[in-house]
Amino acid sequence: MAEEKSFKYVIVGGGVSAGYAAREFFKQGVKPGELAIISREQVPPYERPALSKGYIHLDNKATLPNFYVAAGSGGERQFPQWYKEKGIELILGTEIVKADLAAKTLVSGTGQVFKYQTLLAATGSSVIRLSDFGVPGADAKNIFYLRELEDADYLAYAMETKEKGKAVVVGGGYIGLELSAALKANNLEVTMVYPEPWCMPRLFTAGIASFYEGYYANKGINIVKGTVASGFSTNSNGEVTEVKLKDGRTLEADIVIVGVGGRPIISLFKGQVEEEKGGLKTDGFFKTSVPDVYAIGDVATFPMKLYNEMRRVEHVDHARKSAEQAVKAIKAAEEGNSIPEYDYLPYFYSRAFDLSWQFYGDNVGESVLFGDNDPKSPKPKFGSYWIKEGKVVGAFLEGGTPDENNAIAKLARAQPSVESLEVLSKEGLSFATKI
Ligand code: FAD
Repeated sequence: MAEEKSFKYVIVGGGVSAGYAAREFFKQGVKPGELAIISREQVPPYERPALSKGYIHLDNKATLPNFYVAAGSGGERQFPQWYKEKGIELILGTEIVKADLAAKTLVSGTGQVFKYQTLLAATGSSVIRLSDFGVPGADAKNIFYLRELEDADYLAYAMETKEKGKAVVVGGGYIGLELSAALKANNLEVTMVYPEPWCMPRLFTAGIASFYEGYYANKGINIVKGTVASGFSTNSNGEVTEVKLKDGRTLEADIVIVGVGGRPIISLFKGQVEEEKGGLKTDGFFKTSVPDVYAIGDVATFPMKLYNEMRRVEHVDHARKSAEQAVKAIKAAEEGNSIPEYDYLPYFYSRAFDLSWQFYGDNVGESVLFGDNDPKSPKPKFGSYWIKEGKVVGAFLEGGTPDENNAIAKLARAQPSVESLEVLSKEGLSFATKI
């Protein structure tokens, strides 16, 4: 029987939040042998957003170890050696299949048993698959999803072998937009398909989206809106050849990439931890309903103090900050101290082609567009504000400088009152930079 291992702290999951939690544990003086990270992946924690932004750009590929945590926040890169030197045990290629929170025990797929005193659940999200909905042919070869390094390796290989081939991207969210840009840069002919009237509908307004759709069209990307992939045809090797659309049309395809969202991985904790809004419910210190069990990153549904609401956030900035908050809270509690509650300002970003946008705050209420959002502009710079109950609650900016991005972040946090939408539309970015 495999030997049982015991640690003071165990992080289950080895992604972004696990990496930043390890960094914070080290800062807080964790002792060698006290902390273990158990991850299904074969590599130490890395900055997951790099997969769609750099790793699959074949001509200018970002490679590991360059985007190990904490490269994304300008910190020291945590190579395997970093963990070794700190006495933090990295248990890779190991999937936890059972968690008994009452007995403080985890069991891996190979039957290895891990005991802990404090557990951090950092299992992130898994992609939603078209086969989950029984879409015919969705299991064909060369239909890809992107969540982990291994997925990116398969995709990169297919892009290399199908150069100048036809790619169909299913989904118009940030994954769809970033991957379409990467496919185009890798010389494939790209068509995007999504059911909504415009891309990124959960964040973008029609005005914001019209810029990106125009820009993508100018780059030669074909966009098919208002319909969904309802099936796939294959050749005798089981490889995808065609995407069938619900409206009756078909699209030839050598490669299909699906980016239709994710769902938090919480099955290990079902029936043991209180849930809310699809995640593990926590307080402002990421403590769950079970003593000594914390949840961080994508899986946590936490009190968003700024909006007085429980929310779950699937973004890297929150993965980093929630990890730091949880570890600080754990260490403070051990010393009989307390720390302030988590007070998070939502922050999302994306980069594709030469474009780069940032968003801070809440995209609720009315919105106004400002600036130059002509997709043909040599240097487009535009943005949007969201106004609720007379206050500016959210801000989006494409093409901003670091100072300008800081200004919209400050604005979204301060939520200044505004006389009228006209004022905002006229003042544009200067409304934020003067705050
Ligand atoms: P993850 O980083 O997903 O880590 C979870 C880890 O847990 C994985 O290693 C997984 O293998 C492991 N795991 C799961 N179950 C088990 C188990 N049972 N046993 C052992 N290990 C397990 N966010 C942004 O804000 N901006 C972006 O531009 C952006 N780009 C992205 C691009 C891509 C391609 C993807 C996939 C995500 C992107 N995100 C982006 C989202 C961001 O990466 C996530 O919100 C963040 O990684 C969440 O961190 P996490 O630690 O909760 O989960």
